[in-house]
Formats: sequence, C-alpha cells, structure tokens
Amino acid sequence: MIQAFELNRQYHSIKGEIDKKIQEVLDKGNMILGENVSCFERDFSGYCNTKFGIGVGSGTAAIHLALLSCGVSNGDEVITVPNTAVPTVSAISLANAIPVFVDVDPETYTINTKKIEEGITRKTKAIIPVHLYGHPCDMDPVLEIAEKHGLRVIEDACQAHGAKYKGRSVGSLGDIGCFSFYPTKNLGAYGDGGMVVTRNEELAETVRLLRNYGQTEKNVHKIIGFNSRLDEIQAAILRVKLKHLEEWNASRAGKARLYHKLLDDSVITRPVERKWARHVHHLYVVRSGKRNQLQEWLKSQGILTNIHYPTPVHMQEAYSYLGYGKGSFPVSERNAGEILSLPMFPELTREEIERVAAAVNSMKQ
Ligand SMILES: *Cc1c(COP(=O)(O)O)cnc(C)c1O
Repeated sequence: MIQAFELNRQYHSIKGEIDKKIQEVLDKGNMILGENVSCFERDFSGYCNTKFGIGVGSGTAAIHLALLSCGVSNGDEVITVPNTAVPTVSAISLANAIPVFVDVDPETYTINTKKIEEGITRKTKAIIPVHLYGHPCDMDPVLEIAEKHGLRVIEDACQAHGAKYKGRSVGSLGDIGCFSFYPTKNLGAYGDGGMVVTRNEELAETVRLLRNYGQTEKNVHKIIGFNSRLDEIQAAILRVKLKHLEEWNASRAGKARLYHKLLDDSVITRPVERKWARHVHHLYVVRSGKRNQLQEWLKSQGILTNIHYPTPVHMQEAYSYLGYGKGSFPVSERNAGEILSLPMFPELTREEIERVAAAVNSMKQ
C-alpha cells in the first residue's frame, strides 16, 4: 500500500532528537508560554523574514486573531477564494465578518487577481489570498489592489511553509501571515498549533494579547481575549523539525520533478509552477475528467489518494446563507470535480513515485 501521506517514516528518522526534547519539557514542567515557544517564534519569524512571530493554537486561530488585530468586525466583508480549506472561511465567520468569494486562476488554482475588484464594496476590510497546495499567489496585483482600496492583506500560508514569491517569503508579503502546524503540513507538530508572523509591531502586540486572555501581565486584562496558545511540547517539537524543513521541501521538489517527468499529460493535467514561484509542493494535485474512476483504479493498485477539496466552500451547507450556488465560481467548481492529490511527502521513495506514475499512465481511456 502507498499512503497519500505518512507521518511515521519522518518520526523514525528524527525520533532520538524529538523524544529527547519532549522529555526535557516534561522534566522542566513549564508547559505554557515558556522558552520553547519564544525561541520557536523567533526562529520561525526569522525563517519567514518577518520581525514578529506569535505562536497560537491552530491555523484557524492564526487567521481569526489576525483578522481581529486588523480591526475586522461585525458586518465587515473579507475577500477570499471558495477552493480552500473550510477553516480559512470559518475564521472570517468567527470574526463576525462576511466572506466574499472570488474565483481562482484556471492553472495555478490560486486567487484570480483580475476578479478581486468585482468583490470589493464599501464594507470590504481585508483580502485573504491562500497559497494553495504550496504554490504562492500572484501577490503584486493583490498588494496593489489592497493599497488602492485601503484593505489589509492577510496571507493564508497554512499550506506553504517556505514558499517564495519573486524571492520573498510567503507570510512576509502582506500585513500579516498565518501558518498552521497541523501534523500533515510541510512543518507539522504532533498535535495542533499555528503562528502569526508580521513586521507590524502593533498587529503583533494585539495578537499577543488576544491569544492569552487579553492579558498584558498577570491579572491585568487590557482587551477581551481568547485562550489560543502554541504549547511548549509542540514548540519544542517544531524547533527540531524547523531545522529539517529546507531539506524536506527540497525532497518534495524532487518528487514533484519526478512526477512531472513520468506522468503522461494525455491522461491527466499536471500542476504548474509559475516562473516567479518557489512552490513547496505541500500537495501534488493532478486533474482528470475521470477523476473518480482514476481514484478507484489507483486504490485497486494499492495507491491511496485524497481530494483537496471535493466541495467548494460556497457549496457547503454552512455557507448556503451567503446565497451563492452552482455556477457562481466555475473554475473552483470544475476543479472540485477533477482534482486528485497523489501521494506526496518527503520520505516517499523513487520506486513508489514510479509505481504511482505507472499506475496513473496505465489508466488509458
Ligand atoms: C490547514 C489549513 C488551515 C487550518 O489550519 P488548522 O491548524 O487545521 O486550524 C487553514 N487554511 C488552509 C489553507 C489550510 O490548509
């Protein structure tokens, strides 16, 4: 069996280091907002080329608190895409704002920057571009439009740790960048975690208060806050794993190149990588008009795959109140019916990629 994603091979390759660090945290007994969190905040914000990093409870929380720090509130509108993980949109709802969708580019599957202005109204406060599957959005037009209309840009970089746009790190391009450390992400914890990165000290300070009961110091509460902190054990694990991230991303890029070379593009459509992009291949997503058949065929060959995502957010029951429907976003809807995520993780072997590619190619019509 080839899994779509597998965590154990990676754990076993770093088990000694990880177990030692977890043990150290337990021996010390300081579980919340200790030195592992502050060191990891410094290291990861440095890795993203931003000044501040604030560890939070999840990627969803990162986006939620980022929106609040930007002053997004009741009835404000926030622009994003419908072909994202639902939590991008949940975070907008948690801030009491209204999600406004724009469709995506038919090749990169990231926000179609020519459509953004159609979604802007007097109520629009922010844009959340999603660096989907590890490929960065075309950020220059996003930033220009935001500047022109006085909007904040909050990057959803939950799938794109280490990705670059014209040589600049994702998360550092807009006002604020949001990351998830969900176990399957390029940089994953062994539980939940997230981080907000920014160069803006004021936004950083607000997120720092919001994640910890709105507290400036013990028993002093300046604003109404939440409990949303990265914990010491996860931070200790992430400090170990961050040292390997570049090597793991390079390994993913090698697998993607091999897939690209071996896959027959008369059977499936391969993913693209723009000239200005450093893609970090969180997922390797192909398209097929016979997607369900292809997925079944691969399963019969012992190869497991996933779909990210089978239902665009505007077609989810939870968001039916927005009044969108079938046909509202043709590219996102086409993709939902055609995309398939082939196995992709740094520890996949060359032989496994060859087996997957051969199985895909043999699905001749
Ligand atoms: C994973 C993910 C999130 C949510 O992160 P959690 O840590 O699971 O809350 C948000 N947006 C995107 C694009 C994601 O892939």
